[in-house]
Amino acid sequence: MAASTGRLAGKTALVTGGSRGIGRGIAERLGRDGARVAVHYGSNETAAKETVDVIEAAGGSAFAVGAELGVAGDAEALWSRFDAHAEGLDILVNNAGIGTSRPFAETDEAEYDRLFAVNAKAPYFITQLGAERLRDGGRVVNISSGLSRAAMMPEIMTYAMTKGALDVFTRNLSKVLGPRGITVNSVAPGIIDTDVNAAWLRGEENRAAWESSARLSALGRVGAASDVADVVAFLASDDGRWITGQWIDATGGSLP
Ligand code: NAP
Repeated sequence: MAASTGRLAGKTALVTGGSRGIGRGIAERLGRDGARVAVHYGSNETAAKETVDVIEAAGGSAFAVGAELGVAGDAEALWSRFDAHAEGLDILVNNAGIGTSRPFAETDEAEYDRLFAVNAKAPYFITQLGAERLRDGGRVVNISSGLSRAAMMPEIMTYAMTKGALDVFTRNLSKVLGPRGITVNSVAPGIIDTDVNAAWLRGEENRAAWESSARLSALGRVGAASDVADVVAFLASDDGRWITGQWIDATGGSLP
């Protein structure tokens, strides 16, 4: 389908962390659906440019926006760079995040603060400044985790806690933005094959971990970025207009 005739034709989307992993899957899918996509990245500009190239090669429209998150002024920096390319937006996907943490006994204050700064504080202020740019009838999707509902990996509890904060943000923000017809939802992936899991999940030496991860899902496989992206695309579309304030399980049936 030509991008200009897709169901998101005429819409503009920003996907934080759209350069790699799940965010890349989301950016590519929204681009195929016809949205003009701002592909955000932190430090890996090459990956962001590759994602832009893939979207454009498929007939879509995209541009890269760099801004380190979790530092003072991060949201202002992101939006001022976004504003140089686009006027307003329709779909904001808060996806960028630090995907793991150290065990409870080893976590120091610096790590705790960094995790919350990137995974919870940055989406909060990106959305606060984004709300004035979001057009009525828009969409906010926060990428959470199955771990905010189930204590399946207590060894990374600090990470899970940041996603719990994001979910509370989702529920409350849906009431704040609802009068403008803007929906706000959390999408919660299970184990997805992305770089953040590469060291323990990919390669022959990790075959046992891969197989046990696959067995966690009722569907018997490890998730792909596209599995999550397709859920986000549904919420971003007009078909998702009556769903807001929700936590959407995208774990492939991995939760107990
Ligand atoms: P990933 O492959 O590590 O990609 C992370 C993306 O976020 C990259 O685009 C990265 O950009 C950006 N990013 C990370 N930290 C940043 C920072 N401080 N400032 C700016 N950008 C930053 O991660 P992923 O696995 O796709 O995860 C994406 C989201 O899904 C995260 O919120 C994660 O918690 C959530 N999630 C993942 C899984 C999973 O199994 N993979 C499961 C549940 C939830 P740069 O490369 O430029 O830094």
